[in-house]
Amino acid sequence: MTPAPDTSAPDTPAVRAAVLERIGDPGPYAETRPIRIRELGLRPPGPGELRVRVRAAGLCHSDLSVVNGDRPRPVPMVLGHEAAGEVAALGAGTEGRFAVGDHVVLCFVASCGTCARCLDGSPALCERGAAANGAGDLVGGGRRWYAEDGSAPAHHLGVSAFAESIVVSADSAVRVDADLHFEVAALFGCAVLTGVGAALRAADVRPGERVAVFGLGGVGLSAVLGVRVAGAERLVGVDPVAAKRDLAGRLGATDRLPGGADAVAAVRDLTGGGADKVIDTTGSADVLAQAYLATRPGGTTVTVGLPHPDRLLSIPAVTLAAQERTLRGSYLGSGVPARDIPAYISLYKRGLLPVTELLSGRLSLDEVNEGFDRLASGEAVRQVVLM
Ligand SMILES: [Zn+2]
Ligand SMILES: [Zn+2]
Repeated sequence: MTPAPDTSAPDTPAVRAAVLERIGDPGPYAETRPIRIRELGLRPPGPGELRVRVRAAGLCHSDLSVVNGDRPRPVPMVLGHEAAGEVAALGAGTEGRFAVGDHVVLCFVASCGTCARCLDGSPALCERGAAANGAGDLVGGGRRWYAEDGSAPAHHLGVSAFAESIVVSADSAVRVDADLHFEVAALFGCAVLTGVGAALRAADVRPGERVAVFGLGGVGLSAVLGVRVAGAERLVGVDPVAAKRDLAGRLGATDRLPGGADAVAAVRDLTGGGADKVIDTTGSADVLAQAYLATRPGGTTVTVGLPHPDRLLSIPAVTLAAQERTLRGSYLGSGVPARDIPAYISLYKRGLLPVTELLSGRLSLDEVNEGFDRLASGEAVRQVVLM
């Protein structure tokens, strides 16, 4: 057990941070402005923690899901969870693992390495990491942000990437090569890890298979890249936004569909009776049901989507047994981030994962409300805040 961090001695000057103040505001966020840029205090890193100077942070649907209430979290909260930066200060006990100046990608579950799930080889399901994330705390206990009014804003997924500097558990950081641009490195923390992991590890796509991907945002397009790396013969990309379908085509989708009521029949038609593997990235329980029905008997449906906790999935129950189907969820790429992030970066460096194609805009911290409008409308794939 890590000793409780010393949170008594604030030493960092005020840090500019994007703080979500209210959940469930209607859009456009450029007008309702649920996220406010505030100057916050940041306590020094405790034992097992790092202070990181954030350089790039992506806007992800999981942030938007907190803003719109689909993923209820405590507020005020410093949002953001997909990021890359430089280690700026070392908490006690981290000296052997990190050095000041190291470039790191942040990971949105701090896995402890000792709980039952970590010992099972499922660090994405770390019990301590999940509890801390739900509470808006760091895994070492409590919060490192403090505000003038005496409140302690929550951390988002142990990262809180939309801030100039952050304190994180060292277990949230993966060291990466310093020659990688920060805006590219950031993508590996969520979109690429989640999407490529869904294709290569959860769906275990094999050469020659027929695959469909529902939802072509940052995660879905990363799944497309992963499916292509795996050597699928047919790759159907499904999304209502034409520009995203076009991009999927450039990244390797052999067929594109706009979705809607005909999507199941159309995927079945294109794949000779149903895809071997279908990956759903939409966060919609109804689309997940479509993805399931578009999978062939004996096939595997994988979802990385996070619908509102009240939403139920409706599928013909008999088909699971009678058609030997597999339906599985995938979180954090269904792997080990400290191993998988460097592996996927290696694929990128060899030209096999052209993730820079996902970048659709660069923002300043002051523009995150506008950025979430573009994400919600489907206009943007991956926008990155540079700091
Ligand atoms: Zn994300
Ligand atoms: Zn654990």
